[in-house]
Formats: sequence, C-alpha cells, structure tokens
Amino acid sequence: MMKQHGPPPSGFHPASAMDFLPLAQLRDLQLKRMQAIVSRAYEHVTLFRQRMKERDLTPASVQTLDDVRLLPFTEKNDLRATYPFGLFASPMTEIVRLHASSGTTGKPIVVAYTQEDLDAWTNAMLRALAACGLHKGDIVQNAYGYGLFTGGLGAHYGAEALGATVIPISGGNTDRQIMVMKDFGVTAICCTPSYFLHLIERAGELGVNMKNLPLRAGILGAEPWTEAMRQRIEAESAIKAYDIYGLSEIVGPGVAMECPHQSGPHIFEDLFYPEVVDPKTGAPAPDEAEGELVLTTLAKRAMPMIRYRTHDITAVTSETCACGRTLRRIKRISRRSDDMLIIRGINLYPSQIEAALLAVEGTLPHYQIIVDREKGLDTLEVQVEVTAEFFSDTVGAMEGLQAKLVHSIETVTGLRPQVRLVAPRTLQRSEGKAKRVQDKRKL
Ligand SMILES: [Zn+2]
Repeated sequence: MMKQHGPPPSGFHPASAMDFLPLAQLRDLQLKRMQAIVSRAYEHVTLFRQRMKERDLTPASVQTLDDVRLLPFTEKNDLRATYPFGLFASPMTEIVRLHASSGTTGKPIVVAYTQEDLDAWTNAMLRALAACGLHKGDIVQNAYGYGLFTGGLGAHYGAEALGATVIPISGGNTDRQIMVMKDFGVTAICCTPSYFLHLIERAGELGVNMKNLPLRAGILGAEPWTEAMRQRIEAESAIKAYDIYGLSEIVGPGVAMECPHQSGPHIFEDLFYPEVVDPKTGAPAPDEAEGELVLTTLAKRAMPMIRYRTHDITAVTSETCACGRTLRRIKRISRRSDDMLIIRGINLYPSQIEAALLAVEGTLPHYQIIVDREKGLDTLEVQVEVTAEFFSDTVGAMEGLQAKLVHSIETVTGLRPQVRLVAPRTLQRSEGKAKRVQDKRKL
C-alpha cells in the first residue's frame, strides 16, 4: 500500500463553521459568554467570590472583553488548596465525569464535567481533528493514555463524533501499536511527539517502514516540542505532524489545534478566551509578544476557570491564516515558565537544548539533560544518542561531532556543557510525556 501524498481530502465538517465566525460576531459571543461564566463562578465558587469582593468587583464589572484584566488569576495551587471539589460550580448530582492530573508530588488536581461540558469538549475535539483534515473514513489510532488523564477519552469522543474509526489502544505496548498501525491501515495517530519518535524507531527495527504505510497525520501534543523536532518526525515518517494544545484544568486536549498550514494552533476562541501576560508581573504583554498564556473558559459549567495561568510560554497572533479561520493562533509551545532551569545564573529551557542538538547532523532526537552541583558549582551534562553510522565511525569523527554539539549548545544557550555521545537506544524511552531533565541539585 503506498502512501497518498498531497493535501488531505477537502471535506468540510459542519461543526467547523464556528471556526470561521465573522470577527464581530465572535467577539460579541465571547463577551456574552464571559459575562455569564463570571456570574456563574461568582454565585457558586466561594474562592472566586471572595477574591472578587476583595477587589470590589462584581460580575457587572465586566463590560468589555478587556475588563477580563480586572479579574483575579486562578493558579494551579488554587486547585490543590481546594482539593478535591472546592472549585466546582455544579452540585455532584450534575457532574457526570471526573478526571485528575498526574501530579508528580502530593495530591493530584481534579477536574469535573457536566454532560453539557462533555458535549462541548467532544465538539471542540471534533473541530480539532477536522481542522487538520481528518474526516469520516479515517482510522485513528489513539495512543494517548485512557484513564484519569484527559488525553485518551478527549481524543476518543472527538474522533467518534467526527465519524472516524477509533482504535482505543491507549499508551504503551509499542510492538502491538506497530502491528495495529500496519494491519488496520491506520491513517492518523494521536500521541506525544516523543512517543511517536519511539514508534518510528521501533517500527524500523521490526522492518516496518512508516513511509510505506497509509498513515498520513499525527495529532501530537501533551508535551513541549520544537519545530526542529517536527521536521525530524515528518522527514522520518512522511506524515504531517500537527500540533494540538490543551490542558486538563481548562478541558483537556482540544483547546487549540493546527490547520493544514501548520502555522501554530488556532484557539477555539468561542470556548476559551486567551490572554498573554508577563510571567513575573502578570501584566498584559503587548500584542504578538511572548509571555505566559492565560485562559478563561467561556462555556464550562462544572468548573469555570477564570484567568487560569497555564505556565505555557507563547505569543498570540491575530494575523490572518491562509485557511480563513477567524480564530487567533498561538505560537508553538516549546517551553513552560516552570520548566526553566537556572544554571550558573543563566536561564535554560530544555527546548533550547533540543533545537541545538537537532541542528547538528548525526544526532538522534533522544537526549537527557543532567544538572548537578560539584564544589558549589552547577554542572550541565547533555547525553545524546547518535546514529549508528556515526557511533561505529572513527574516534576522530566522534570527537568532531562532540565538539560541534558543544559549540551548538553554547551558541544557543550561552552555557558550555559536557556532551556525552551514547549509542542508539541507550536512553530510556517514554510512553507518554518525555522526561528530559534530571536535576540532581534538588535531591
Ligand atoms: Zn489556519
């Protein structure tokens, strides 16, 4: 079976009509929904009402969309402090589903949905999948984890609503994933970018060349990744890799999604109101400038989130996209304000290392960053896998590659690292979100 190249079939799903709402109508709808959600949170969520009162605000204070800036932020800590149900605006009798985050420390955060919320989420995910050209007849391998994590069920119901065939395989069991992909004629896959890389690699070992499969689209998200990573993925698999964005606190996957132009995810603005703020001060960032993404849910009943601080660093652009959607776009999220490492006083994001490594030929997109402290001084080690050819090559070639990598990282980050080249398949693979950093200073 040969892969079909060229643009995806031009089916238009009626649900996508909301993506093309005339701007004036969209802003009007956003304001009405924002006023309603603020009223709802004020009436039903104690923490929100208290904070509004402290600021002498009432729901009537929101007269324009910009008035959102008057409202208090909601932080992840607020969800922890009110664990498990303290931010719910609906009685438990109306809540039909709970999800929870995979908290690495302490209690998870819990999110809730009424039936209406689930329908709205399904609709957002349907629009997300339709936006990148999926349609009835597609066979979707859903390798996001099913369970408390929102990824699996979110993508699942969206794909079913689209009329696609869903394979609810969940994460893990890589050899079986590859068998299913090949035998079932899978045309699209949902998973993290790092797991997809792992699938490409394992498929190669099993003698399966993804370039010859009908697979044409990856709906990749749930972890920060870089444009360099996308290019590697597309080159090695001949699929189109689309960036999907979402987070459980807001709804799950389906907050924003790329169209075939792959120029950054469009935010489903009728459901989620975006702002960008300075991560330190919380002040609004100028248009198109980078900062922390803050989201307000415009239609969620069980758990309205007002000005939720995502810690994701991006910029919002209102530049028109060639697809004609009126929805604004966010820039690819390659870093979070809380994944920043400070090494010898210099700020470092793992994505900078990723970009620096992938710029050099001979490396594989598998790497680990190890930070430690020796005699009071921070140390930075980067372990990177190199291709089999390079690894078996002469010592001279290895040393040359090592020097190039040190230089590339130093140019991008201003830090001179120790680079250790390791054989292919040495570093641990992740079946969900990749863990790139070991910070031993915290141990
Ligand atoms: Zn577009």
